[in-house]
Amino acid sequence: MHKLIRGIARFREESTPGQKTLFAQLALGQRPDALFVCCSDSRVALNVFASTEPGDLFVVRNVGNLVPYCDAYGVSTSDRSEAAAIEFAVNNLRVRDIIICGHSECGAMQALLSGLENVPWPNLKSWLAAAHPALARCRAGEEIDPGLSEVNRLSQLNVIEQASHFLTYPFVRERVDSGELSIHAWWFDIARAEVIGYDPRLKRFKLVDDWAEQMALTGACIGRPAAGS
Ligand SMILES: [Zn+2]
Repeated sequence: MHKLIRGIARFREESTPGQKTLFAQLALGQRPDALFVCCSDSRVALNVFASTEPGDLFVVRNVGNLVPYCDAYGVSTSDRSEAAAIEFAVNNLRVRDIIICGHSECGAMQALLSGLENVPWPNLKSWLAAAHPALARCRAGEEIDPGLSEVNRLSQLNVIEQASHFLTYPFVRERVDSGELSIHAWWFDIARAEVIGYDPRLKRFKLVDDWAEQMALTGACIGRPAAGS
């Protein structure tokens, strides 16, 4: 707690006039560029690796970066928190991009591999069940990158799987189909401090760069294959 409290005091004393102006403007409203869903893991330092500023991203963090799919009535089949955030970001904030970002050495993915019957806490056990489809894909031998450890392979399959769950929400599907919304699956490699993104045309991850922006612009995002592909 010491470091945290000293950090708050330091910011109060040392924040620049520009930072104060930015927050004063943000108090009037937010217009984030994207909905960003990532794991609660403390190492997923999104403001650092994405060089973001306050107000840039509408963020949902949870254990394992999971997005429970919805039922036939558009209601989440698990915790409602994620679905509520998706509804608000897409329908009210009108974000044009949704990014789901997994990461290497994810403890949630390790727990899945070890078997949820070994998780002693009922809420965590129940929550992680939303990642079972990814575990099934991993067990079936679906390959992403042969050089990956099993936990990282599951983690990459999970981010692709969870990205597809957004599309079960009818209002998301509608906006993706009309080209107003793009869904992206990214993955943070902690040891390399690098973010890679899934290219659905090549069915593999590669360093996030201009191609990821082009992918959205040309309509080749997840759930909306480019014309002719
Ligand atoms: Zn994690």
